[in-house]
Amino acid sequence: MKKPGNKILRIRGYALALIFIGMGTMYLGVFFREYQWVFSIFLLIGLLPILLSFVIYFWVGLISTRAVTVQCPNCEKHTKILGHVDFCQHCKEPLTIDKELEGEEFSLDYNVEHRRKKAIDEKNAENEK
Ligand SMILES: [Zn+2]
Repeated sequence: MKKPGNKILRIRGYALALIFIGMGTMYLGVFFREYQWVFSIFLLIGLLPILLSFVIYFWVGLISTRAVTVQCPNCEKHTKILGHVDFCQHCKEPLTIDKELEGEEFSLDYNVEHRRKKAIDEKNAENEK
């Protein structure tokens, strides 16, 4: 299984894919250029994913200002973490901003508030023993 990558990079990847889908659809329309209305429909359909990708790019810009920049302990490069756990943009090392979860086995569950709380509680309970 392919390792999941950094969230911001992944979202950007989806946006890029949408642009290609849109351009591909528009390109298909060229085969029907003799029928003006079919050509127009292809152009319109192709425009939708491109517009959507602009919205996604804009949104990524917004959320990346809220992302935490940290130095990756593995490759020592700076990377942005979105949410509580994310992967390094460079080496895909799983990283967390929660001290409590350091050294824990990595799980995307920690992005979900109540599951993260549960994991932290379990860990604290273990330490108290
Ligand atoms: Zn790294």
